[in-house]
Amino acid sequence: MEKILRKRPTFADYLEGIKRHDKIITAQAITLVESQLPADIDLAEKIIEAILPLTGNSIRIGITGPPGVGKSTFIESFGEFLTHAGKKIAVLAIDPSSTLTKGSILGDKTRMENLSRNANAFIRPSATGNTLGGVTNATKETILLCEAAGFDVILIETVGVGQSEVAVRDMVDFFLLLVMAGAGDELQGIKKGIMEMADGIVVTKADGDNVKRAQHAKLDLQNALHLFNTPPSQWLPRVVTSSAITNLGIEDIWKMIEQYADVTKQNDFFSINRQQQDISWFHSSMQRMIKKEIVDGIASAEKIKELEEKIMAKEISASAACNLIVKMIKQRFAKI
Ligand code: GDP
Repeated sequence: MEKILRKRPTFADYLEGIKRHDKIITAQAITLVESQLPADIDLAEKIIEAILPLTGNSIRIGITGPPGVGKSTFIESFGEFLTHAGKKIAVLAIDPSSTLTKGSILGDKTRMENLSRNANAFIRPSATGNTLGGVTNATKETILLCEAAGFDVILIETVGVGQSEVAVRDMVDFFLLLVMAGAGDELQGIKKGIMEMADGIVVTKADGDNVKRAQHAKLDLQNALHLFNTPPSQWLPRVVTSSAITNLGIEDIWKMIEQYADVTKQNDFFSINRQQQDISWFHSSMQRMIKKEIVDGIASAEKIKELEEKIMAKEISASAACNLIVKMIKQRFAKI
């Protein structure tokens, strides 16, 4: 059988490809930053370092909402609108379900069919690895690669089911929550915590019979938002009704995000927030790497398992177990 040998891109290939906004090379570079292989990690680091001066020039938007609320349909309409307006957009879909159930909520290929054919759009499901920490690391670097590759709007989509929203909130400029006007007490189902993270809320499917219900939901949400304290951005979150069928609200949502950028650039929150996000990225990466390289490297998985069992059996406290690990690490370093 004839083997097709494809040359692996070199550092220079990656760099030039990203600089000339080549989507294929950019996708390969993303695969590289997602890789756990030591050789890939080193090359990925070198690439990220080299492209850093080209990053930061996009608006990073987080989009979340429960399955079925209309995220992918919204992103199709919103993405079409943005590309018509001359923007280049990247959509990064984070799918936490794949690590939990080995299945996938966001990953199926039928989603965003039109947008995936659009030359000015780039859609990429983001691998989460085994931990939520994986979301932060690979996705953060993917954002940087997309910025260097010339994308000026980055949409990061998550299913509104848990912690991944908190991780995403920490890497975007604007956080958009999608909700659906259901029958009766729909607002009860939205967690206060997730509402507090939102800079904008979209009531989806405001068309046909649903228009009135969507308007009511909007008023309820606006009233609920009034009860929250003014956030550090000084931006008061807004609620917009929207329909992917009639395109209601699509332009308003973009205008809202532009206004947010204006307000927060004027009061400096925009850049301070990004700096703080980078610092928290540094700390979480450091913790993860120390855990992987030092804790897992010195205290074996069996030792950790043994301590977990002792904690469960109340034979040892969690902090005493921790101290034992620290002692093991110190002893190992003392020998070097
Ligand atoms: P996701 O799981 O949040 O990505 O939701 P989808 O975008 O897949 O949408 C779920 C369902 O809602 C699909 O059957 C869509 O056709 C429908 N849908 C999405 N947006 C709208 C809308 O604006 N109006 C109406 N009437 N239906 C919509």
